[in-house]
Amino acid sequence: MKLSLVVPCYNEAENVAAFQEAVISAFEGCGYDYEIVFIDDGSKDATLHNLKKLYAAQKCPVKVVSFSRNFGKEAGLYAGLQHASGDYISLIDADLQQRPEIVRDMVKILDEQPAYDVVAAYQDRRNEGKVLSFFKKSFYRIINKLSDVTLQPDASDFRTFRRSVRDSILELGEYHRFSKGIFAWVGYETCFIPYTACERAAGKSKWNFWKLMEYAIEGIIGFSTAPLRLATVLGGVAGISAVLYLIWVILEKLIRGIDVPGYATIIVLILFFGSVQLFCIGIIGEYVGRIFEQSKDRPIYIAKEVLDYEEK
Ligand code: UDP
Ligand code: MG
Repeated sequence: MKLSLVVPCYNEAENVAAFQEAVISAFEGCGYDYEIVFIDDGSKDATLHNLKKLYAAQKCPVKVVSFSRNFGKEAGLYAGLQHASGDYISLIDADLQQRPEIVRDMVKILDEQPAYDVVAAYQDRRNEGKVLSFFKKSFYRIINKLSDVTLQPDASDFRTFRRSVRDSILELGEYHRFSKGIFAWVGYETCFIPYTACERAAGKSKWNFWKLMEYAIEGIIGFSTAPLRLATVLGGVAGISAVLYLIWVILEKLIRGIDVPGYATIIVLILFFGSVQLFCIGIIGEYVGRIFEQSKDRPIYIAKEVLDYEEK
Protein backbone atom coordinates (compact mmCIF):
# COMPACT_ATOMS: atom_id res chain seq x y z
CA MET A 1 0.00 0.00 0.00
CA LYS A 2 1.18 3.47 -0.83
CA LEU A 3 0.03 6.91 0.19
CA SER A 4 0.56 10.08 -1.87
CA LEU A 5 0.52 13.42 -0.12
CA VAL A 6 -0.39 16.17 -2.58
CA VAL A 7 0.93 19.52 -1.38
CA PRO A 8 0.29 22.77 -3.30
CA CYS A 9 2.87 25.43 -2.42
CA TYR A 10 2.78 29.10 -3.22
CA ASN A 11 5.50 31.17 -1.55
CA GLU A 12 6.09 28.59 1.15
CA ALA A 13 9.92 28.70 1.13
CA GLU A 14 10.17 28.66 4.92
CA ASN A 15 7.68 25.85 5.31
CA VAL A 16 8.50 23.08 2.84
CA ALA A 17 11.47 21.58 4.68
CA ALA A 18 9.65 21.71 8.01
CA PHE A 19 6.65 20.15 6.34
CA GLN A 20 8.71 17.24 5.07
CA GLU A 21 10.21 16.72 8.54
CA ALA A 22 6.73 16.70 10.06
CA VAL A 23 5.61 14.12 7.50
CA ILE A 24 8.63 11.90 8.12
CA SER A 25 8.12 11.92 11.87
CA ALA A 26 4.37 11.39 11.56
CA PHE A 27 4.77 8.36 9.30
CA GLU A 28 7.68 6.73 11.08
CA GLY A 29 6.88 3.06 11.51
CA CYS A 30 3.50 3.35 9.81
CA GLY A 31 4.14 0.15 7.86
CA TYR A 32 3.34 1.46 4.36
CA ASP A 33 5.06 3.48 1.66
CA TYR A 34 4.39 7.14 1.13
CA GLU A 35 5.49 9.90 -1.21
CA ILE A 36 5.14 13.67 -1.19
CA VAL A 37 4.05 15.38 -4.41
CA PHE A 38 4.95 19.06 -4.09
CA ILE A 39 3.49 21.49 -6.59
CA ASP A 40 5.28 24.79 -6.85
CA ASP A 41 2.52 27.10 -7.98
CA GLY A 42 4.74 29.74 -9.58
CA SER A 43 6.15 30.92 -6.26
CA LYS A 44 8.09 34.18 -6.25
CA ASP A 45 10.34 33.25 -3.33
CA ALA A 46 12.81 30.40 -2.88
CA THR A 47 10.14 27.68 -2.71
CA LEU A 48 11.25 25.94 -5.91
CA HIS A 49 14.89 26.14 -4.91
CA ASN A 50 14.10 24.54 -1.55
CA LEU A 51 11.91 21.90 -3.15
CA LYS A 52 14.73 20.96 -5.51
CA LYS A 53 16.99 20.48 -2.50
CA LEU A 54 14.42 18.16 -0.93
CA TYR A 55 14.16 16.29 -4.23
CA ALA A 56 17.92 15.89 -4.52
CA ALA A 57 18.19 14.59 -0.95
CA GLN A 58 15.17 12.21 -1.19
CA LYS A 59 14.99 11.82 2.59
CA CYS A 60 11.62 10.38 1.74
CA PRO A 61 10.23 9.89 -1.80
CA VAL A 62 9.59 13.39 -3.17
CA LYS A 63 8.22 14.56 -6.51
CA VAL A 64 8.17 18.18 -7.60
CA VAL A 65 5.99 19.71 -10.29
CA SER A 66 6.71 23.36 -10.93
CA PHE A 67 4.32 25.64 -12.76
CA SER A 68 5.32 28.28 -15.27
CA ARG A 69 3.34 30.86 -13.26
CA ASN A 70 0.78 31.04 -10.47
CA PHE A 71 -2.27 29.05 -11.57
CA GLY A 72 -3.99 28.87 -8.17
CA LYS A 73 -4.39 26.15 -5.58
CA GLU A 74 -7.09 24.32 -7.51
CA ALA A 75 -4.79 23.87 -10.50
CA GLY A 76 -2.08 22.74 -8.10
CA LEU A 77 -4.32 20.06 -6.66
CA TYR A 78 -5.20 18.87 -10.17
CA ALA A 79 -1.54 18.55 -11.17
CA GLY A 80 -0.77 16.82 -7.87
CA LEU A 81 -3.51 14.26 -8.41
CA GLN A 82 -2.20 13.55 -11.90
CA HIS A 83 1.28 12.79 -10.55
CA ALA A 84 0.19 10.90 -7.43
CA SER A 85 0.86 7.18 -7.79
CA GLY A 86 -0.45 6.03 -4.39
CA ASP A 87 -3.41 3.80 -3.63
CA TYR A 88 -4.52 6.46 -1.17
CA ILE A 89 -4.17 10.14 -1.93
CA SER A 90 -4.20 12.92 0.60
CA LEU A 91 -4.56 16.67 -0.02
CA ILE A 92 -2.79 18.77 2.56
CA ASP A 93 -1.43 22.34 2.81
CA ALA A 94 2.26 23.13 3.07
CA ASP A 95 1.92 25.59 5.95
CA LEU A 96 1.54 22.94 8.69
CA GLN A 97 -1.92 24.20 9.63
CA GLN A 98 -3.05 20.66 8.97
CA ARG A 99 -1.02 18.13 10.93
CA PRO A 100 0.28 15.09 9.00
CA GLU A 101 -0.62 12.93 12.03
CA ILE A 102 -4.26 13.45 11.10
CA VAL A 103 -3.55 11.92 7.69
CA ARG A 104 -2.38 8.81 9.48
CA ASP A 105 -5.74 8.65 11.26
CA MET A 106 -7.52 9.14 7.95
CA VAL A 107 -5.62 6.26 6.37
CA LYS A 108 -6.54 4.11 9.35
CA ILE A 109 -10.24 4.84 8.84
CA LEU A 110 -10.00 3.95 5.13
CA ASP A 111 -8.17 0.74 6.02
CA GLU A 112 -10.58 -0.36 8.70
CA GLN A 113 -13.83 0.76 7.14
CA PRO A 114 -14.06 -0.33 3.50
CA ALA A 115 -17.48 1.33 3.23
CA TYR A 116 -15.80 4.73 3.17
CA ASP A 117 -13.95 6.02 0.12
CA VAL A 118 -13.15 9.49 1.42
CA VAL A 119 -12.20 10.85 4.81
CA ALA A 120 -12.59 14.62 4.97
CA ALA A 121 -11.63 16.87 7.83
CA TYR A 122 -13.72 19.83 8.87
CA GLN A 123 -12.69 22.56 11.27
CA ASP A 124 -14.55 22.22 14.54
CA ARG A 125 -13.32 25.46 16.06
CA ARG A 126 -12.53 28.49 14.00
CA ASN A 127 -10.62 31.49 15.22
CA GLU A 128 -12.20 33.99 12.90
CA GLY A 129 -14.35 37.09 13.15
CA LYS A 130 -18.14 37.07 13.44
CA VAL A 131 -18.58 38.85 10.10
CA LEU A 132 -16.51 36.32 8.17
CA SER A 133 -18.20 33.43 9.92
CA PHE A 134 -21.62 34.91 9.07
CA PHE A 135 -20.68 35.23 5.38
CA LYS A 136 -19.37 31.68 5.29
CA LYS A 137 -22.56 30.32 6.84
CA SER A 138 -24.69 32.30 4.38
CA PHE A 139 -22.60 31.01 1.49
CA TYR A 140 -23.26 27.38 2.42
CA ARG A 141 -26.94 28.07 2.92
CA ILE A 142 -27.24 29.75 -0.49
CA ILE A 143 -25.20 27.26 -2.48
CA ASN A 144 -26.90 24.26 -0.92
CA LYS A 145 -30.30 25.73 -1.82
CA LEU A 146 -29.32 26.64 -5.37
CA SER A 147 -27.20 23.76 -6.58
CA ASP A 148 -27.84 20.09 -6.99
CA VAL A 149 -24.82 19.11 -4.90
CA THR A 150 -24.76 19.43 -1.13
CA LEU A 151 -21.62 20.91 0.38
CA GLN A 152 -20.68 20.02 3.92
CA PRO A 153 -20.24 23.33 5.76
CA ASP A 154 -16.66 23.91 6.92
CA ALA A 155 -15.31 20.83 5.15
CA SER A 156 -11.89 21.76 3.84
CA ASP A 157 -9.77 20.42 1.01
CA PHE A 158 -7.92 18.51 3.71
CA ARG A 159 -8.94 14.96 2.87
CA THR A 160 -7.70 11.48 2.03
CA PHE A 161 -9.34 9.19 -0.49
CA ARG A 162 -8.95 6.03 -2.50
CA ARG A 163 -7.46 5.99 -5.97
CA SER A 164 -10.87 5.48 -7.59
CA VAL A 165 -11.96 8.85 -6.19
CA ARG A 166 -8.83 10.47 -7.60
CA ASP A 167 -9.61 9.02 -11.03
CA SER A 168 -13.14 10.42 -10.88
CA ILE A 169 -11.94 13.88 -9.86
CA LEU A 170 -9.46 13.93 -12.75
CA GLU A 171 -12.27 13.13 -15.17
CA LEU A 172 -13.77 16.54 -14.41
CA GLY A 173 -11.58 18.62 -16.70
CA GLU A 174 -13.29 21.95 -16.14
CA TYR A 175 -11.12 25.03 -16.32
CA HIS A 176 -12.80 26.85 -13.45
CA ARG A 177 -12.24 24.41 -10.64
CA PHE A 178 -14.11 24.66 -7.38
CA SER A 179 -12.91 21.65 -5.47
CA LYS A 180 -15.51 21.74 -2.69
CA GLY A 181 -18.15 21.36 -5.38
CA ILE A 182 -16.14 18.79 -7.33
CA PHE A 183 -15.76 16.57 -4.25
CA ALA A 184 -19.48 16.76 -3.60
CA TRP A 185 -20.28 16.16 -7.28
CA VAL A 186 -18.24 12.97 -7.66
CA GLY A 187 -20.02 11.53 -4.62
CA TYR A 188 -18.59 8.46 -2.81
CA GLU A 189 -19.15 7.61 0.85
CA THR A 190 -17.44 10.27 2.92
CA CYS A 191 -16.50 10.12 6.57
CA PHE A 192 -16.19 13.57 8.16
CA ILE A 193 -13.83 13.98 11.06
CA PRO A 194 -13.27 17.16 13.06
CA TYR A 195 -9.87 18.79 13.34
CA THR A 196 -8.48 22.01 14.71
CA ALA A 197 -6.33 24.02 12.33
CA CYS A 198 -3.01 25.10 13.81
CA GLU A 199 -1.45 28.49 13.31
CA ARG A 200 0.40 28.94 10.04
CA ALA A 201 4.05 27.90 10.60
CA ALA A 202 5.50 30.79 8.56
CA GLY A 203 4.47 33.19 5.80
CA LYS A 204 0.95 34.49 5.45
CA SER A 205 -2.38 33.26 4.16
CA LYS A 206 -3.22 34.07 0.54
CA TRP A 207 -6.86 34.66 1.34
CA ASN A 208 -8.62 37.90 2.03
CA PHE A 209 -12.26 38.88 2.11
CA TRP A 210 -12.56 39.65 -1.61
CA LYS A 211 -10.75 36.50 -2.64
CA LEU A 212 -13.22 34.52 -0.53
CA MET A 213 -16.11 36.41 -2.14
CA GLU A 214 -14.77 35.58 -5.61
CA TYR A 215 -14.37 31.97 -4.54
CA ALA A 216 -17.98 31.90 -3.33
CA ILE A 217 -19.28 33.31 -6.63
CA GLU A 218 -17.11 30.76 -8.46
CA GLY A 219 -18.81 28.01 -6.47
CA ILE A 220 -22.34 29.21 -7.05
CA ILE A 221 -21.90 29.90 -10.77
CA GLY A 222 -19.95 26.67 -11.27
CA PHE A 223 -22.48 24.40 -9.64
CA SER A 224 -25.86 25.98 -10.26
CA THR A 225 -27.82 27.59 -13.05
CA ALA A 226 -30.37 29.02 -10.60
CA PRO A 227 -29.06 32.61 -10.92
CA LEU A 228 -29.99 32.50 -14.61
CA ARG A 229 -33.55 31.70 -13.62
CA LEU A 230 -33.56 34.84 -11.49
CA ALA A 231 -33.86 36.96 -14.65
CA THR A 232 -36.97 35.02 -15.68
CA VAL A 233 -38.51 35.39 -12.24
CA LEU A 234 -37.74 39.11 -12.01
CA GLY A 235 -39.07 39.64 -15.54
CA GLY A 236 -42.28 37.81 -14.67
CA VAL A 237 -42.85 39.76 -11.47
CA ALA A 238 -42.12 43.07 -13.20
CA GLY A 239 -44.44 42.18 -16.09
CA ILE A 240 -47.37 41.37 -13.80
CA SER A 241 -46.77 44.55 -11.76
CA ALA A 242 -46.69 46.59 -14.96
CA VAL A 243 -50.06 45.22 -16.11
CA LEU A 244 -51.61 45.93 -12.67
CA TYR A 245 -50.21 49.44 -12.75
CA LEU A 246 -51.55 49.96 -16.26
CA ILE A 247 -55.06 49.00 -15.13
CA TRP A 248 -54.71 51.40 -12.20
CA VAL A 249 -53.66 54.25 -14.49
CA ILE A 250 -56.58 53.65 -16.88
CA LEU A 251 -59.10 53.49 -13.99
CA GLU A 252 -57.70 56.70 -12.52
CA LYS A 253 -58.11 58.42 -15.85
CA LEU A 254 -61.67 57.11 -16.41
CA ILE A 255 -63.05 57.58 -12.91
CA ARG A 256 -61.20 60.57 -11.47
CA GLY A 257 -60.11 62.20 -14.70
CA ILE A 258 -56.45 62.52 -13.59
CA ASP A 259 -54.16 62.83 -16.59
CA VAL A 260 -50.36 63.09 -17.00
CA PRO A 261 -49.07 60.87 -14.18
CA GLY A 262 -46.10 61.95 -12.13
CA TYR A 263 -42.60 62.59 -13.38
CA ALA A 264 -41.17 60.90 -10.27
CA THR A 265 -42.91 57.61 -11.08
CA ILE A 266 -41.37 57.52 -14.54
CA ILE A 267 -37.86 58.25 -13.28
CA VAL A 268 -38.13 55.59 -10.58
CA LEU A 269 -39.43 53.02 -13.05
CA ILE A 270 -36.70 53.76 -15.59
CA LEU A 271 -33.96 53.53 -12.98
CA PHE A 272 -35.44 50.41 -11.40
CA PHE A 273 -35.82 48.45 -14.59
CA GLY A 274 -32.53 49.73 -15.93
CA SER A 275 -30.72 48.29 -12.94
CA VAL A 276 -32.68 45.04 -12.96
CA GLN A 277 -31.73 44.56 -16.61
CA LEU A 278 -28.08 45.33 -16.02
CA PHE A 279 -28.02 42.96 -13.07
CA CYS A 280 -29.50 40.15 -15.16
CA ILE A 281 -27.13 40.82 -18.05
CA GLY A 282 -24.30 40.66 -15.53
CA ILE A 283 -25.40 37.23 -14.35
CA ILE A 284 -25.69 35.96 -17.90
CA GLY A 285 -22.26 37.46 -18.54
CA GLU A 286 -20.75 35.40 -15.73
CA TYR A 287 -21.92 32.22 -17.42
CA VAL A 288 -21.01 33.35 -20.93
CA GLY A 289 -17.53 34.22 -19.67
CA ARG A 290 -17.09 30.73 -18.32
CA ILE A 291 -18.36 29.17 -21.54
CA PHE A 292 -15.79 31.31 -23.36
CA GLU A 293 -12.98 30.22 -21.03
CA GLN A 294 -13.95 26.57 -21.28
CA SER A 295 -14.42 26.63 -25.07
CA LYS A 296 -10.86 27.87 -25.51
CA ASP A 297 -9.92 24.51 -24.03
CA ARG A 298 -6.72 25.76 -22.48
CA PRO A 299 -4.81 23.48 -20.13
CA ILE A 300 -5.54 23.87 -16.41
CA TYR A 301 -1.86 24.51 -15.77
CA ILE A 302 1.51 24.52 -17.52
CA ALA A 303 4.32 22.64 -15.87
CA LYS A 304 7.75 23.92 -16.74
CA GLU A 305 9.50 21.13 -14.88
CA VAL A 306 8.57 17.77 -13.41
CA LEU A 307 10.98 16.00 -11.08
CA ASP A 308 9.85 12.43 -10.61
CA TYR A 309 11.95 9.95 -8.64
CA GLU A 310 10.08 7.10 -10.31
CA GLU A 311 11.43 8.11 -13.71
CA LYS A 312 14.98 8.63 -12.51
N1 UDP B 1 -1.66 27.90 -2.47
C1 UDP B 1 -1.32 27.61 -3.79
N2 UDP B 1 -1.57 28.55 -4.77
C2 UDP B 1 -2.16 29.76 -4.49
C3 UDP B 1 -2.53 30.01 -3.15
C4 UDP B 1 -2.28 29.07 -2.18
O1 UDP B 1 -0.78 26.55 -4.09
O2 UDP B 1 -2.35 30.54 -5.41
C5 UDP B 1 -1.37 26.89 -1.41
C6 UDP B 1 -0.60 27.44 -0.23
O3 UDP B 1 0.79 27.41 -0.46
C7 UDP B 1 -1.00 26.50 0.89
C8 UDP B 1 -2.44 26.16 0.51
O4 UDP B 1 -2.59 26.46 -0.86
O5 UDP B 1 -0.23 25.32 0.91
C9 UDP B 1 -3.45 26.92 1.35
O6 UDP B 1 -3.22 28.30 1.24
P1 UDP B 1 -3.33 29.29 2.47
O7 UDP B 1 -2.56 28.74 3.62
O8 UDP B 1 -2.95 30.63 1.97
O9 UDP B 1 -4.88 29.26 2.77
P2 UDP B 1 -5.59 29.16 4.20
O10 UDP B 1 -4.90 28.08 4.97
O11 UDP B 1 -5.41 30.49 4.82
O12 UDP B 1 -7.01 28.82 3.85
MG1 MG C 1 -3.05 27.86 5.41
